[in-house]
Amino acid sequence: MCECGCYSNAVTYQMPGPNGLVYLVKLLPACDYCSVGMCVEISRLGPANQTECEELKHTPPLPVSFDCDGVPVTVISVGVEKDELVKLAKQCAFDEVDDITLEVVADEMWTKMPQAPTIVMPDSE
Ligand SMILES: [Zn+2]
Repeated sequence: MCECGCYSNAVTYQMPGPNGLVYLVKLLPACDYCSVGMCVEISRLGPANQTECEELKHTPPLPVSFDCDGVPVTVISVGVEKDELVKLAKQCAFDEVDDITLEVVADEMWTKMPQAPTIVMPDSE
């Protein structure tokens, strides 16, 4: 990932962890050049890493809301909703394809898309 500098466009938040750890949560944009979709990267910084990490000084806390039990929660969306996909397909404006066909195509694409985020392990080269 990141052969073109797209990584530097990531929105980053910090989140405190146990035992003095700090987590950096990066919301990485999709990039055609690097052929990656949007994703979330989480780094765990120990005390030594925190003093070396200049970025940490300028990183805001991860926004949280509270669920019905009062538990702090942050939800990070990593894709589009089905209705958004249909809307985007209709915006593509292929002259020879009507909206109903685009809706059927978008619906079919929706069934083929990954339905949950997955953990990506680095390539072992
Ligand atoms: Zn890139």
